[in-house]
Amino acid sequence: MVENKQIIEYLATRDNYNKLENLIAKELEEYYSMPKPKKAESGKKIKTLEEATEILSEAKHSVDDFLSLKPGYCNPKLELKGSLKYNGNGLFSTMVSNALFLAAGIGAAIYWHPMIGGAMVGVGISKLAFILNLNLSITTPVCNSSELITCIKGATREEMRMSLLHEYAHAVSIDRLGGQSLKYRCLSEGFAQGTQLHISKHYGAKNRSSLFSSIRCLDNARHDIKCKLSGKEKFFLKMEKNIKEEMISDNEYMFLTGAGYFLFRLAEEKHGEDIYKEVLEGNTKLLFA
Ligand SMILES: [Zn+2]
Repeated sequence: MVENKQIIEYLATRDNYNKLENLIAKELEEYYSMPKPKKAESGKKIKTLEEATEILSEAKHSVDDFLSLKPGYCNPKLELKGSLKYNGNGLFSTMVSNALFLAAGIGAAIYWHPMIGGAMVGVGISKLAFILNLNLSITTPVCNSSELITCIKGATREEMRMSLLHEYAHAVSIDRLGGQSLKYRCLSEGFAQGTQLHISKHYGAKNRSSLFSSIRCLDNARHDIKCKLSGKEKFFLKMEKNIKEEMISDNEYMFLTGAGYFLFRLAEEKHGEDIYKEVLEGNTKLLFA
């Protein structure tokens, strides 16, 4: 596996930044030239494990095919969770008490003692961020081992399909390459996101929304690569400092995913879509060649 640091160092050159901007511009043009769908996607929500399992088996088939995997190679179990289950009063009251603590810190910094107030603000912000993140992370599908995928009840069929393409790609890469830890997240997210979007962009009917996801993902990488190029390494530096896995913020996660996805897109231009199979074989050097 390749560490985040190596990927960001590789991507953050003026030349790659220009390629990124061109890629975004090209996809935006393509996006606006596509006719808008007449009707919004059907609102039918996936509520049962049976329905979700059926979508997983379709997603699995597409990914296995794309990566030339033997059918039945990887068979993660699927679990379906309700996202509201965790948003009970406990969480809400903890959030309120931490927000009050934060407000008190701001007051103390202004009227009383800047250092003590400042420290309170710091604690308030980090506790709130932790709680909010915890909340976010359980409303997002996850795959932390090749044996289990957790999905959220109530997603539409298309959302579920997109999530399962992504999560199943994670299951496969964890099985082959291991390493879902934060240090390697850029590569693993790039692999999963690239696989998901590559497959769904080539599906036809839904490719306008896939293209939109692709643009958004590339755009997430853009801001931070620009910061790094101009010497401001805000997110990236923070990530390199021993932050705990569960403390990774939404922005950091989106940046890592965006940067990883951009890495695969660059490599696709040079090596074609076989790059995904190559990486799965452990041939990660090709990503940088
Ligand atoms: Zn992911």
